[in-house]
Amino acid sequence: MIKTDVVIIGAGPVGLFAVHQLGIIGLKSEVIDNLDKAGGQCIELYPDKPIYDIPAIPVCTGEELTKNLLKQIEPFKTNFHFNERVQEVSNENNKWVVKTSKNKVFVSPNIVIAGGVGSFEPRKLPLKEAEKHEGKSIFYSVNEKNKFKGKKISIFGGGDSALDWALELSKTSNVTLIHRRDEFRGAPHTLSQIKKLEKAGKLIIKTKYQLSAIEGDKNIKSITIKNDEEKTIKVETDYILSFFGLIMQLGPIAEWGLNMNKKNISVNTENFETNKKGIFAVGDICIYPGKQRLILSGFHEAALASVECFKRARPNEKYRFQFTTSSKEIQERLGCKPK
Ligand SMILES: Cc1cc2nc3c(=O)[nH]c(=O)nc-3n(C[C@H](O)[C@H](O)[C@H](O)COP(=O)(O)OP(=O)(O)OC[C@H]3O[C@@H](n4cnc5c(N)ncnc54)[C@H](O)[C@@H]3O)c2cc1C
Repeated sequence: MIKTDVVIIGAGPVGLFAVHQLGIIGLKSEVIDNLDKAGGQCIELYPDKPIYDIPAIPVCTGEELTKNLLKQIEPFKTNFHFNERVQEVSNENNKWVVKTSKNKVFVSPNIVIAGGVGSFEPRKLPLKEAEKHEGKSIFYSVNEKNKFKGKKISIFGGGDSALDWALELSKTSNVTLIHRRDEFRGAPHTLSQIKKLEKAGKLIIKTKYQLSAIEGDKNIKSITIKNDEEKTIKVETDYILSFFGLIMQLGPIAEWGLNMNKKNISVNTENFETNKKGIFAVGDICIYPGKQRLILSGFHEAALASVECFKRARPNEKYRFQFTTSSKEIQERLGCKPK
Protein backbone atom coordinates (compact mmCIF):
# COMPACT_ATOMS: atom_id res chain seq x y z
CA MET A 1 0.00 0.00 0.00
CA ILE A 2 1.43 3.40 -1.01
CA LYS A 3 0.57 6.39 1.19
CA THR A 4 0.94 9.84 -0.31
CA ASP A 5 -0.35 13.41 -0.05
CA VAL A 6 -1.92 13.32 -3.52
CA VAL A 7 -2.63 10.66 -6.15
CA ILE A 8 -2.60 12.15 -9.64
CA ILE A 9 -4.49 10.20 -12.29
CA GLY A 10 -2.99 11.04 -15.69
CA ALA A 11 0.54 12.05 -16.71
CA GLY A 12 -0.54 14.42 -19.48
CA PRO A 13 0.74 18.02 -19.44
CA VAL A 14 -1.73 19.04 -16.74
CA GLY A 15 -0.96 16.06 -14.46
CA LEU A 16 2.76 16.88 -14.81
CA PHE A 17 2.27 20.53 -13.92
CA ALA A 18 0.11 19.49 -10.96
CA VAL A 19 3.17 17.61 -9.62
CA HIS A 20 5.05 20.93 -9.76
CA GLN A 21 2.38 23.01 -8.09
CA LEU A 22 1.96 20.42 -5.32
CA GLY A 23 5.72 19.97 -4.99
CA ILE A 24 6.56 23.63 -4.44
CA ILE A 25 4.11 23.79 -1.54
CA GLY A 26 5.68 20.68 -0.03
CA LEU A 27 3.25 17.95 -1.07
CA LYS A 28 4.32 14.56 -2.40
CA SER A 29 2.41 13.01 -5.25
CA GLU A 30 2.29 9.67 -7.06
CA VAL A 31 1.29 9.69 -10.72
CA ILE A 32 -0.56 6.86 -12.47
CA ASP A 33 -1.07 6.61 -16.23
CA ASN A 34 -2.36 3.91 -18.47
CA LEU A 35 0.21 4.80 -21.13
CA ASP A 36 3.84 3.66 -21.04
CA LYS A 37 5.15 7.22 -20.85
CA ALA A 38 4.32 10.76 -19.76
CA GLY A 39 2.84 13.44 -22.02
CA GLY A 40 -0.79 12.42 -22.66
CA GLN A 41 -2.22 13.81 -25.90
CA CYS A 42 0.92 15.90 -26.57
CA ILE A 43 3.08 12.80 -26.86
CA GLU A 44 0.54 10.33 -28.28
CA LEU A 45 -1.28 12.51 -30.77
CA TYR A 46 1.07 15.32 -31.83
CA PRO A 47 4.67 14.90 -30.61
CA ASP A 48 6.13 16.77 -33.64
CA LYS A 49 3.45 19.44 -34.04
CA PRO A 50 4.24 23.01 -32.97
CA ILE A 51 2.26 24.54 -30.09
CA TYR A 52 2.12 28.34 -30.14
CA ASP A 53 0.11 29.24 -27.05
CA ILE A 54 2.14 28.14 -24.05
CA PRO A 55 2.85 31.36 -22.10
CA ALA A 56 6.40 32.68 -22.65
CA ILE A 57 7.32 29.83 -25.02
CA PRO A 58 6.76 31.20 -28.54
CA VAL A 59 6.79 27.72 -30.05
CA CYS A 60 7.51 24.15 -28.90
CA THR A 61 6.42 20.70 -30.03
CA GLY A 62 4.30 18.34 -27.97
CA GLU A 63 7.41 16.31 -27.20
CA GLU A 64 9.46 19.36 -26.19
CA LEU A 65 6.69 20.57 -23.89
CA THR A 66 6.56 17.15 -22.21
CA LYS A 67 10.35 17.02 -21.79
CA ASN A 68 10.38 20.50 -20.23
CA LEU A 69 7.52 19.69 -17.86
CA LEU A 70 9.39 16.55 -16.76
CA LYS A 71 12.58 18.57 -16.27
CA GLN A 72 10.71 21.14 -14.20
CA ILE A 73 9.50 18.43 -11.77
CA GLU A 74 12.81 16.55 -11.52
CA PRO A 75 13.56 18.01 -8.04
CA PHE A 76 10.49 16.28 -6.60
CA LYS A 77 11.66 12.77 -7.59
CA THR A 78 8.08 11.75 -8.25
CA ASN A 79 7.12 8.10 -8.69
CA PHE A 80 5.36 7.33 -11.97
CA HIS A 81 3.25 4.20 -12.31
CA PHE A 82 2.92 3.62 -16.05
CA ASN A 83 0.90 0.98 -17.90
CA GLU A 84 -1.63 1.00 -15.06
CA ARG A 85 -5.20 2.12 -15.27
CA VAL A 86 -6.95 3.45 -12.19
CA GLN A 87 -9.90 1.11 -11.76
CA GLU A 88 -11.51 1.83 -8.42
CA VAL A 89 -11.80 4.73 -6.04
CA SER A 90 -13.35 4.26 -2.60
CA ASN A 91 -13.38 6.05 0.74
CA GLU A 92 -12.12 4.49 3.97
CA ASN A 93 -11.81 6.50 7.22
CA ASN A 94 -11.97 9.80 5.38
CA LYS A 95 -9.05 8.80 3.10
CA TRP A 96 -9.31 7.94 -0.57
CA VAL A 97 -8.24 4.45 -1.64
CA VAL A 98 -7.20 4.09 -5.26
CA LYS A 99 -6.77 0.68 -6.93
CA THR A 100 -5.08 0.11 -10.29
CA SER A 101 -5.39 -2.58 -12.94
CA LYS A 102 -2.16 -4.08 -11.56
CA ASN A 103 -3.70 -4.27 -8.07
CA LYS A 104 -1.55 -1.49 -6.64
CA VAL A 105 -3.27 0.32 -3.79
CA PHE A 106 -2.75 3.98 -2.91
CA VAL A 107 -4.11 5.78 0.14
CA SER A 108 -4.34 9.55 0.16
CA PRO A 109 -6.48 12.45 1.39
CA ASN A 110 -6.48 13.84 -2.17
CA ILE A 111 -6.98 12.62 -5.72
CA VAL A 112 -6.34 14.92 -8.67
CA ILE A 113 -7.95 13.55 -11.81
CA ALA A 114 -6.04 14.86 -14.83
CA GLY A 115 -7.44 12.17 -17.09
CA GLY A 116 -7.87 14.27 -20.24
CA VAL A 117 -10.25 12.65 -22.66
CA GLY A 118 -9.96 9.34 -20.83
CA SER A 119 -7.32 6.65 -20.76
CA PHE A 120 -5.56 5.75 -23.96
CA GLU A 121 -6.20 2.08 -24.66
CA PRO A 122 -4.71 -0.07 -27.43
CA ARG A 123 -7.06 -1.03 -30.24
CA LYS A 124 -7.29 -4.79 -29.72
CA LEU A 125 -7.06 -7.66 -32.21
CA PRO A 126 -10.55 -8.42 -33.49
CA LEU A 127 -10.48 -12.16 -32.63
CA LYS A 128 -12.30 -13.57 -29.60
CA GLU A 129 -9.56 -16.16 -28.89
CA ALA A 130 -6.97 -13.36 -28.68
CA GLU A 131 -8.23 -12.40 -25.23
CA LYS A 132 -6.95 -15.50 -23.39
CA HIS A 133 -3.43 -14.96 -24.76
CA GLU A 134 -3.26 -11.26 -23.82
CA GLY A 135 -0.31 -10.43 -21.57
CA LYS A 136 1.16 -13.94 -22.17
CA SER A 137 1.69 -14.38 -25.92
CA ILE A 138 -0.10 -11.29 -27.26
CA PHE A 139 1.14 -7.80 -26.43
CA TYR A 140 -0.02 -4.32 -27.43
CA SER A 141 3.16 -2.62 -26.19
CA VAL A 142 6.69 -3.77 -25.45
CA ASN A 143 7.98 -3.50 -21.89
CA GLU A 144 10.84 -6.02 -21.83
CA LYS A 145 12.19 -6.75 -25.27
CA ASN A 146 14.51 -9.54 -24.00
CA LYS A 147 11.49 -11.80 -23.69
CA PHE A 148 11.35 -11.93 -27.52
CA LYS A 149 14.99 -12.91 -28.05
CA GLY A 150 15.35 -15.92 -30.40
CA LYS A 151 11.55 -16.25 -30.79
CA LYS A 152 9.17 -16.14 -33.74
CA ILE A 153 7.31 -12.84 -33.64
CA SER A 154 4.35 -11.78 -35.79
CA ILE A 155 3.98 -8.01 -35.74
CA PHE A 156 0.70 -6.45 -36.92
CA GLY A 157 0.29 -2.82 -38.00
CA GLY A 158 1.46 -0.29 -40.55
CA GLY A 159 2.44 2.72 -38.43
CA ASP A 160 5.63 3.80 -36.70
CA SER A 161 5.31 1.45 -33.70
CA ALA A 162 4.95 -1.64 -35.90
CA LEU A 163 7.85 -0.59 -38.15
CA ASP A 164 10.15 0.46 -35.29
CA TRP A 165 9.64 -2.79 -33.38
CA ALA A 166 9.94 -4.92 -36.53
CA LEU A 167 13.30 -3.28 -37.19
CA GLU A 168 14.50 -3.53 -33.59
CA LEU A 169 13.38 -7.11 -32.90
CA SER A 170 14.63 -8.44 -36.25
CA LYS A 171 18.14 -8.06 -34.79
CA THR A 172 17.49 -10.92 -32.36
CA SER A 173 14.25 -12.66 -33.45
CA ASN A 174 12.47 -14.08 -36.52
CA VAL A 175 10.04 -11.33 -37.42
CA THR A 176 7.05 -11.43 -39.77
CA LEU A 177 5.51 -7.99 -40.33
CA ILE A 178 1.85 -8.21 -41.33
CA HIS A 179 -0.25 -5.28 -42.56
CA ARG A 180 -3.74 -5.19 -44.03
CA ARG A 181 -2.75 -2.64 -46.72
CA ASP A 182 0.09 -2.42 -49.23
CA GLU A 183 1.18 1.03 -48.04
CA PHE A 184 2.73 1.62 -44.64
CA ARG A 185 2.05 4.83 -42.69
CA GLY A 186 5.32 4.76 -40.72
CA ALA A 187 8.46 6.82 -41.41
CA PRO A 188 9.79 6.22 -44.96
CA HIS A 189 13.36 5.92 -43.63
CA THR A 190 12.41 3.03 -41.30
CA LEU A 191 10.41 1.40 -44.06
CA SER A 192 13.36 1.48 -46.45
CA GLN A 193 15.57 -0.18 -43.78
CA ILE A 194 12.92 -2.86 -43.32
CA LYS A 195 12.68 -3.46 -47.07
CA LYS A 196 16.47 -3.95 -47.15
CA LEU A 197 16.20 -6.54 -44.37
CA GLU A 198 13.44 -8.30 -46.31
CA LYS A 199 15.67 -8.46 -49.40
CA ALA A 200 18.47 -9.90 -47.29
CA GLY A 201 16.07 -12.58 -45.99
CA LYS A 202 16.25 -11.28 -42.41
CA LEU A 203 12.57 -10.38 -42.06
CA ILE A 204 9.33 -11.37 -43.80
CA ILE A 205 6.68 -8.83 -44.88
CA LYS A 206 3.09 -9.89 -45.66
CA THR A 207 0.85 -7.10 -46.90
CA LYS A 208 -2.90 -7.14 -47.57
CA TYR A 209 -3.21 -9.86 -44.91
CA GLN A 210 -5.18 -9.88 -41.66
CA LEU A 211 -5.27 -12.25 -38.70
CA SER A 212 -7.91 -14.94 -39.14
CA ALA A 213 -7.06 -17.59 -36.50
CA ILE A 214 -4.74 -18.35 -33.62
CA GLU A 215 -3.56 -21.93 -33.07
CA GLY A 216 -2.32 -23.21 -29.72
CA ASP A 217 -3.99 -23.60 -26.37
CA LYS A 218 -1.76 -22.46 -23.48
CA ASN A 219 0.85 -20.90 -25.73
CA ILE A 220 0.47 -19.77 -29.31
CA LYS A 221 2.01 -22.20 -31.80
CA SER A 222 1.03 -20.55 -35.08
CA ILE A 223 -1.39 -18.07 -36.59
CA THR A 224 -3.38 -18.07 -39.82
CA ILE A 225 -3.54 -14.90 -41.88
CA LYS A 226 -5.95 -14.27 -44.73
CA ASN A 227 -6.05 -11.83 -47.64
CA ASP A 228 -9.02 -10.29 -49.48
CA GLU A 229 -9.10 -13.20 -51.94
CA GLU A 230 -9.52 -15.57 -48.94
CA LYS A 231 -6.03 -17.00 -49.50
CA THR A 232 -4.65 -18.21 -46.15
CA ILE A 233 -1.10 -18.67 -44.86
CA LYS A 234 0.04 -20.32 -41.63
CA VAL A 235 2.82 -18.45 -39.83
CA GLU A 236 4.71 -20.18 -37.00
CA THR A 237 4.49 -17.75 -34.10
CA ASP A 238 5.53 -17.63 -30.43
CA TYR A 239 4.43 -14.06 -29.80
CA ILE A 240 2.07 -11.60 -31.47
CA LEU A 241 2.71 -7.87 -31.18
CA SER A 242 -0.17 -5.76 -32.37
CA PHE A 243 0.05 -2.02 -33.04
CA PHE A 244 -3.32 -0.83 -34.35
CA GLY A 245 -3.13 2.53 -32.59
CA LEU A 246 -4.89 3.81 -29.50
CA ILE A 247 -8.47 4.66 -28.66
CA MET A 248 -9.54 6.97 -25.87
CA GLN A 249 -11.99 5.64 -23.32
CA LEU A 250 -13.36 7.43 -20.29
CA GLY A 251 -13.39 4.00 -18.67
CA PRO A 252 -13.95 3.56 -14.95
CA ILE A 253 -13.86 7.31 -14.11
CA ALA A 254 -17.57 7.45 -14.99
CA GLU A 255 -18.35 4.95 -12.20
CA TRP A 256 -16.87 6.81 -9.22
CA GLY A 257 -20.04 8.72 -8.32
CA LEU A 258 -18.75 12.05 -9.59
CA ASN A 259 -21.12 14.63 -11.08
CA MET A 260 -20.62 14.15 -14.80
CA ASN A 261 -21.66 16.38 -17.67
CA LYS A 262 -21.55 14.06 -20.68
CA LYS A 263 -17.93 12.84 -20.61
CA ASN A 264 -16.60 15.57 -18.31
CA ILE A 265 -16.48 16.04 -14.56
CA SER A 266 -18.21 19.10 -13.10
CA VAL A 267 -16.04 21.13 -10.74
CA ASN A 268 -16.28 24.29 -8.70
CA THR A 269 -13.88 26.90 -10.06
CA GLU A 270 -12.66 28.08 -6.66
CA ASN A 271 -10.50 24.98 -6.18
CA PHE A 272 -11.50 22.53 -8.93
CA GLU A 273 -13.00 20.14 -6.41
CA THR A 274 -15.69 17.77 -7.65
CA ASN A 275 -18.85 16.86 -5.72
CA LYS A 276 -16.61 14.53 -3.61
CA LYS A 277 -14.44 16.30 -1.02
CA GLY A 278 -10.78 15.68 -1.80
CA ILE A 279 -11.32 14.59 -5.40
CA PHE A 280 -10.31 17.27 -7.89
CA ALA A 281 -10.56 17.34 -11.68
CA VAL A 282 -8.24 19.47 -13.83
CA GLY A 283 -7.36 19.78 -17.52
CA ASP A 284 -9.47 18.48 -20.37
CA ILE A 285 -11.55 16.19 -18.17
CA CYS A 286 -13.17 18.97 -16.11
CA ILE A 287 -16.05 21.18 -17.11
CA TYR A 288 -17.37 24.52 -15.82
CA PRO A 289 -18.94 27.56 -17.47
CA GLY A 290 -16.49 29.01 -19.98
CA LYS A 291 -14.08 26.05 -19.89
CA GLN A 292 -11.54 26.04 -22.75
CA ARG A 293 -9.70 22.80 -23.48
CA LEU A 294 -6.27 24.40 -23.52
CA ILE A 295 -3.08 23.40 -21.78
CA LEU A 296 -2.75 26.82 -20.15
CA SER A 297 -6.23 26.50 -18.61
CA GLY A 298 -5.22 23.15 -17.12
CA PHE A 299 -2.09 24.68 -15.59
CA HIS A 300 -4.16 27.33 -13.79
CA GLU A 301 -6.67 24.70 -12.62
CA ALA A 302 -3.85 22.57 -11.19
CA ALA A 303 -2.44 25.56 -9.28
CA LEU A 304 -5.76 26.25 -7.57
CA ALA A 305 -6.50 22.59 -6.81
CA SER A 306 -3.09 22.21 -5.15
CA VAL A 307 -3.96 24.83 -2.49
CA GLU A 308 -7.04 22.85 -1.40
CA CYS A 309 -4.98 19.63 -1.47
CA PHE A 310 -2.55 21.29 0.97
CA LYS A 311 -5.36 22.15 3.39
CA ARG A 312 -6.53 18.52 3.39
CA ALA A 313 -3.06 16.93 3.58
CA ARG A 314 -1.77 19.32 6.29
CA PRO A 315 -4.88 20.18 8.35
CA ASN A 316 -2.76 21.52 11.23
CA GLU A 317 -0.69 23.88 9.10
CA LYS A 318 -1.68 27.20 7.60
CA TYR A 319 -1.33 27.59 3.85
CA ARG A 320 0.88 30.58 3.01
CA PHE A 321 0.91 32.11 -0.45
CA GLN A 322 4.53 32.63 -1.60
CA PHE A 323 6.29 33.77 -4.77
CA THR A 324 8.92 31.39 -6.17
CA THR A 325 11.20 34.39 -6.79
CA SER A 326 11.45 35.23 -3.10
CA SER A 327 10.52 32.11 -1.10
CA LYS A 328 13.61 30.36 0.33
CA GLU A 329 11.39 27.41 1.26
CA ILE A 330 10.23 26.88 -2.31
CA GLN A 331 13.73 27.40 -3.68
CA GLU A 332 15.08 24.75 -1.29
CA ARG A 333 12.40 22.32 -2.46
CA LEU A 334 13.50 23.04 -6.02
CA GLY A 335 17.12 22.40 -5.04
CA CYS A 336 18.19 25.95 -6.01
CA LYS A 337 21.64 27.03 -4.83
CA PRO A 338 21.51 30.08 -2.52
CA LYS A 339 22.50 33.30 -4.35
C1 LIG B 1 -3.90 17.57 -32.49
C2 LIG B 1 -4.04 18.38 -31.22
C3 LIG B 1 -3.47 19.63 -31.15
C4 LIG B 1 -3.58 20.40 -29.98
N1 LIG B 1 -3.00 21.64 -29.95
C5 LIG B 1 -3.08 22.39 -28.80
C6 LIG B 1 -2.49 23.68 -28.73
O1 LIG B 1 -1.91 24.19 -29.69
N2 LIG B 1 -2.58 24.36 -27.54
C7 LIG B 1 -3.22 23.85 -26.45
O2 LIG B 1 -3.25 24.51 -25.40
N3 LIG B 1 -3.83 22.64 -26.52
C8 LIG B 1 -3.77 21.89 -27.65
N4 LIG B 1 -4.39 20.67 -27.71
C9 LIG B 1 -5.15 20.21 -26.54
C10 LIG B 1 -4.20 19.69 -25.44
O3 LIG B 1 -3.39 18.65 -25.96
C11 LIG B 1 -5.01 19.21 -24.26
O4 LIG B 1 -5.72 20.32 -23.74
C12 LIG B 1 -4.10 18.63 -23.18
O5 LIG B 1 -3.40 17.51 -23.64
C13 LIG B 1 -4.92 18.24 -21.96
O6 LIG B 1 -4.04 17.76 -21.02
P1 LIG B 1 -4.50 16.77 -19.85
O7 LIG B 1 -3.26 16.53 -19.04
O8 LIG B 1 -5.72 17.34 -19.21
O9 LIG B 1 -4.98 15.44 -20.58
P2 LIG B 1 -4.30 14.43 -21.60
O10 LIG B 1 -3.19 15.05 -22.35
O11 LIG B 1 -5.41 13.83 -22.38
O12 LIG B 1 -3.66 13.31 -20.65
C14 LIG B 1 -4.51 12.51 -19.85
C15 LIG B 1 -3.77 11.25 -19.43
O13 LIG B 1 -4.57 10.57 -18.45
C16 LIG B 1 -4.46 9.17 -18.66
N5 LIG B 1 -5.65 8.53 -18.05
C17 LIG B 1 -6.97 8.81 -18.23
N6 LIG B 1 -7.75 8.03 -17.48
C18 LIG B 1 -6.91 7.22 -16.78
C19 LIG B 1 -7.11 6.16 -15.83
N7 LIG B 1 -8.32 5.78 -15.41
N8 LIG B 1 -5.99 5.53 -15.36
C20 LIG B 1 -4.75 5.89 -15.76
N9 LIG B 1 -4.52 6.88 -16.65
C21 LIG B 1 -5.58 7.52 -17.15
C22 LIG B 1 -4.41 9.04 -20.19
O14 LIG B 1 -3.82 7.81 -20.57
C23 LIG B 1 -3.56 10.27 -20.58
O15 LIG B 1 -2.18 9.95 -20.68
C24 LIG B 1 -4.30 19.89 -28.86
C25 LIG B 1 -4.88 18.62 -28.94
C26 LIG B 1 -4.76 17.85 -30.10
C27 LIG B 1 -5.40 16.50 -30.15
